[in-house]
Amino acid sequence: MTGDLLTASGIEAGYGKVQVLWGAGVAVNERESVVLLGPNGAGKTTFLKVLLGLMPAWRGAVRFAGDDITRMRTDHRVRRGLAYMSEIGVFTGLSIEENLRIGGQFVERATLRARTEELYGIFPALAERKSALAGALSGGQRKMLGIAKALAAGPRLLVMDEPSAGLSPLFVSQVIEVLGRFRESGLALLIAEQNVAFLDLADRVFTLEAGRVGFEGTVEALHADDALHRAYFGLEGS
Ligand code: ATP
Repeated sequence: MTGDLLTASGIEAGYGKVQVLWGAGVAVNERESVVLLGPNGAGKTTFLKVLLGLMPAWRGAVRFAGDDITRMRTDHRVRRGLAYMSEIGVFTGLSIEENLRIGGQFVERATLRARTEELYGIFPALAERKSALAGALSGGQRKMLGIAKALAAGPRLLVMDEPSAGLSPLFVSQVIEVLGRFRESGLALLIAEQNVAFLDLADRVFTLEAGRVGFEGTVEALHADDALHRAYFGLEGS
């Protein structure tokens, strides 16, 4: 289970004495889009935080673009091309422009200026309200800003924690459409979700259950497994 861009293996981590991850792992290749599917409380957020260095791994290793980054500081990981969008995604007390500047804080000025213009082209609703507070945006626009903020860093891999959180189905499909465009352009994605609609974006799926990876394979293989199909698509009745 190795990926030429990101490989995490045997990850154990938790909070105080409470262990949440029990040997979890994931692999992402260049230009690949991977969905980490799991129910509430399975440990998805904890796992992504370990990948970014926001929490220490008790055991296991994280490799990114050929290097062991298990103990590397978060800002150094970001500089190397790992970007993270948390469930909240933006600083609500800051403006759109300021959020983008924070997302691109490690990027050289002229590059960031050009990239910001490009992002405003992709997200015109943000361009119209550059000095508006992120907290004043609708849920859907806020999510778009979260994506733009993470992309301002110019990542090789965009790691996202539940981009569907708090969004109505209409906005969920808009987010999927936008991410699909970045995927087409070759950006590698790792998306932690419980919403199976995001499987539309997946080249490969990992399931996380109670801190362990249960399944790794294609979306077709997930559908073909009766028990997994029932567990994740049961409500669709198909
Ligand atoms: P969700 O979709 O609800 O965010 P998740 O799959 O991302 O779920 P985590 O947020 O990683 O799951 O939580 C995994 C487990 O760790 C849960 O049992 C949760 O209660 C516990 N947990 C999360 N944060 C903390 C914390 N700060 N202190 C103690 N336990 C925590």
